[in-house]
Amino acid sequence: MKHILISACLLGQACRYDGQSKTYAAIENLWHMPDVTLIPFCPEQGGGLPTPRPASEQQGDRVVTETGADVTEEYERGADQALRLARLYSCTWAVLKEKSPSCGSGEIYDGTFSRTLTAGDGVTAARLKAAGIRVVGEKHLQPLLAALRHVGV
Ligand code: SF4
Repeated sequence: MKHILISACLLGQACRYDGQSKTYAAIENLWHMPDVTLIPFCPEQGGGLPTPRPASEQQGDRVVTETGADVTEEYERGADQALRLARLYSCTWAVLKEKSPSCGSGEIYDGTFSRTLTAGDGVTAARLKAAGIRVVGEKHLQPLLAALRHVGV
């Protein structure tokens, strides 16, 4: 059995900052693969933030809301918990929601709250990557699907 950590909002949990989920059709490919168990987790909720909550973006090494509140500690706590869960289930891969200040991988919003993207990782994505866990976004599942089909994880 292969365990894959996944952003809970991608599985339909209404845990986003706006109280919505963000399902994506390709996740169905994972859901129905034999011997794969998805481990859902929302690091922002896990870090102690409420839902709904103000939108947040990274500004340097801090995470702030659009009204200027510093929520870095909650984001760091959520990242710690995500890593703990990934290790508990021996996850070597994670599927994380793209562009999120927690889960985004490769590109995130630039901290100006103008919907402008820049290169970078969300706090949780960075934490998992630093621990050697491979992170893919929901629109870039091919490396994971290839590994599951041909190599094993
Ligand atoms: Fe989804 Fe991650 Fe945002 Fe939680 S923190 S709502 S799992 S993108």
